[in-house]
Amino acid sequence: MSETTSVLDLEEAGAVLAAEAARFASFGWMRGTSGNLSVVLSRTPLQLAVTASGRDKGELTAADVVLTDASGAALGAGRPSAEAALHARVAALTGAGAVVHVHTVASVAMGHRSPGGIAFRDLEMLKGLGHGTHEVAVTLPVIENSQDMAVLGDRLEAALSPGMPAVVVAGHGLYVWGADPREARHRTEVVEWLLELELTRS
Ligand SMILES: [Zn+2]
Repeated sequence: MSETTSVLDLEEAGAVLAAEAARFASFGWMRGTSGNLSVVLSRTPLQLAVTASGRDKGELTAADVVLTDASGAALGAGRPSAEAALHARVAALTGAGAVVHVHTVASVAMGHRSPGGIAFRDLEMLKGLGHGTHEVAVTLPVIENSQDMAVLGDRLEAALSPGMPAVVVAGHGLYVWGADPREARHRTEVVEWLLELELTRS
């Protein structure tokens, strides 16, 4: 498996995303076909490989992937998730090479509890988000949900928080991004760990 996303073709990207999706599905983070993953194949023009809509994320194959443009529209065969547009927006805004979107219980529960944003500090796990020390304070933004991806993208752009490559969408789930699928996966695992920890605090 290549970790250099820029050299992936669509089928290779599909294989990478299928493996990542199977891992997240095994954690219970992509239940009922929910969630979607993407990897950037071209920066100029922006093109992404996005997991196909409506498939069981534990059973994806290399073919269950759709090529989309910067608006999330399909460039070839297949139907991307409506959320592909937000993946493209995240890639354009942040320079990320891969985006993870999962519907986790902890993200929805913590979004309810802290609608103004979820604060974390003094935790060794924060080093997993690229911080050199646990002695930092960061906030995971929470944005209101929308079925309009342009509206949701505007909210995400306005909410972006330094040192936190992730956003919670209230009542919905979690977006996390990284330079490549492997970094995006590790960051997703770290952010979810932080959310699960906060849930244990009463
Ligand atoms: Zn979703």
